[in-house]
Amino acid sequence: MYRERGVGGSSRKEYIAGGGGGSMEPSNAINDRRHLDDSPFPTPINLDHRFSSAVLSHPLQSIPSDAEESETDSQESDVSGSDGDDTWISWFCNLRGNEFFCEVDDEYIQDDFNLCELSSQVPYYDYALDLILDIDSSQGDMFTDEQNEMVESAAEMLYGLIHTRYILTGKGMSAMLEKYKGYDFGRCPRVYCCGHPCLPVGQSDIPRSSTVKIYCPKCEDIFYPRSKYHGDIDGAYFGTTFPHLFLMTYGHLKPQKTTQSYVPRVFGFKLHKP
Ligand SMILES: [Zn+2]
Repeated sequence: MYRERGVGGSSRKEYIAGGGGGSMEPSNAINDRRHLDDSPFPTPINLDHRFSSAVLSHPLQSIPSDAEESETDSQESDVSGSDGDDTWISWFCNLRGNEFFCEVDDEYIQDDFNLCELSSQVPYYDYALDLILDIDSSQGDMFTDEQNEMVESAAEMLYGLIHTRYILTGKGMSAMLEKYKGYDFGRCPRVYCCGHPCLPVGQSDIPRSSTVKIYCPKCEDIFYPRSKYHGDIDGAYFGTTFPHLFLMTYGHLKPQKTTQSYVPRVFGFKLHKP
């Protein structure tokens, strides 16, 4: 499903994963971006590329590419009036590839204590925060397109860093529990884990160190996410602690460790280990 809405005079474009029929498939920047990123293997650390390409898909950037879009542009004031629940956060979390993220409560973000020290890590911090909270900033109109892109990338990073902290709180963990129950993080690819649901994990808490992985509670190992769309998400937006604290909190979800393991055989005989 593809739609646009007006935000402070500029247009907001959305792609909601799984919501559109074939005939509605837009020839928009997000699709182009995904096409460029298509690769059978997870992308190694290449977050700069992601940040720059992600900008293409961002809502505040108006890309009048064809007649259909400009027609929609003229209707956007009608759409924005009835679309009050549609926040930046829900837009961001519904982007294809962002399925691992849960929606962080506004209240949590508005509490300065929770954002402690993030202002020194994220450029354009104040503008990025306003964008996340859908606070109209008149100064934004004075920015060049390039500056707007920087703010948009910064908002993505800021949201990720807030997300890491949020998912360690009670509310955040319960939001992630719902996603876990829905297999949103994928299943373990290991045969003897029988499709056990996984949890997202970072190999580092420092941004731009490595991409997100999935942790299987059954075999206690980590894997690349199956979807190529998750291959360039920063692991620091989930952190090294999350799945383990999650399983300590919801102890009943911790499965028994798998005892079965694969045995290589040649003509039915086990291989002799030297
Ligand atoms: Zn497993």
